[in-house]
Amino acid sequence: MTQGFSTRALHAGAAPDPVTGSRAQPIHQTSSFVFKDAEHASKLFALQEFGNIYTRLGNPTTGALEERIANLEGGTMGVATASGHAAQLLAFHVLMEPGAKIVAAKQLYGGSINQLGHAFKKFGWDVEFVDMDDLSAVEAAMDDSVRVLFTESLANPGGVITDIEAIAEIAKRHGVVYMVDNTMASPYLCRPLSHGANIVVNSLTKFIGGHGNSIGGMLVDGGTFDWKAHADKYPTMATPQAYYNDLNFAEGFGALPLGPDGSNVDIAFAIATRAFSLRDLGPALSPFNAFMIMTGCETLPLRMDKHCDNATAVAKYLSSHEKVSWVQYAGLLEDKYYERGRKYCPNGAGAVFTFGLKGGHEAGIKLVESVELFSHLANIGDTRSLIIHPSSTTHSQLSDAQKAAAGAAPDTVRVSVGIEDPADIIADLEQALAQI
Ligand SMILES: *Cc1c(COP(=O)(O)O)cnc(C)c1O
Repeated sequence: MTQGFSTRALHAGAAPDPVTGSRAQPIHQTSSFVFKDAEHASKLFALQEFGNIYTRLGNPTTGALEERIANLEGGTMGVATASGHAAQLLAFHVLMEPGAKIVAAKQLYGGSINQLGHAFKKFGWDVEFVDMDDLSAVEAAMDDSVRVLFTESLANPGGVITDIEAIAEIAKRHGVVYMVDNTMASPYLCRPLSHGANIVVNSLTKFIGGHGNSIGGMLVDGGTFDWKAHADKYPTMATPQAYYNDLNFAEGFGALPLGPDGSNVDIAFAIATRAFSLRDLGPALSPFNAFMIMTGCETLPLRMDKHCDNATAVAKYLSSHEKVSWVQYAGLLEDKYYERGRKYCPNGAGAVFTFGLKGGHEAGIKLVESVELFSHLANIGDTRSLIIHPSSTTHSQLSDAQKAAAGAAPDTVRVSVGIEDPADIIADLEQALAQI
């Protein structure tokens, strides 16, 4: 019988240390590992044996975290990275070629819009942003150059819940990879791989680490994409690679007996990402951060339940406040994404949502300057309650029309509701709203 989520959030990937008996995951704070002999070293380098070489390529502490997150997401193998953005970079690096295109959701995290829309341009990677609620627009974007469909499960800041199964169907029909950023939901609220996504990326900086103290990222291979059938589109995955003695990742790692009860699983994408992109681009997670994030992950289910309960209470309070014109939170019965939320995020609609102030831009500034318990900063997924007025900060360089399109109109305030006592969170908003 598969263990429950809370049990796995504590135990997956972290048995007591066989050498010392240490119960908590030891921090292997080392750059490199001693080889047993010359043959061992040569097998490790040729990927004929798995083991530790150098922390840029892997480390036992980050490895324990990789096993845990892959388990929670229901994937075959994880690759830890220095940040959420690094996980996206590495995943795209394996999948893309110059001239190839990403079809991405318009409703992506602002940092991802910059990464895909500007930074990736220098690699010759094209991107088309579409409204993922408009399936005919997604279909229209699917020309022969497309290699990846990319959405979030629960999108920041607009409170959008993606119809993952509908997008997965389009990706499958066109023979391209569907990758989902699951940061805002975390695997406790949503498991995109179980709805047909092929790859999941997470910023561990947010809810999984959960305490606002460490940056990290993770990509998880779902093991479901047929690379060999699409070798023309994904040459890194399914053609011989000269830098590894003509190894073909899809053939070498497409069926290894590493599943529960020894069944074969496909880890080709995770291996290619590590052996090629992580090795050569370099954004490895530090073992210390892996330890911090792993400790945070132990309480992910407890925290997420409390985050969701508190967010629902705060959203209900704000919806009936005279100075608030609208609240967008999929946890509210009247919200447009409520039904979809029940399907894809049955444990709750998350902790992050936006609302509008009748007083517009000036009122937004007044609110963030008047809160005392809330912290005014640009992060989400901390244990503490956080608030930001996107129009005067993260989105200040955009025109009013661009702000509105990005879900950051001048009247919009974003909160990431923490796990304090809900009465204290509401009391803080009450006194701050009274000052507008
Ligand atoms: C923060 C965030 C990222 C980027 O993660 P970093 O760890 O900051 O690099 C990506 N996607 C979403 C939805 C995020 O909230």
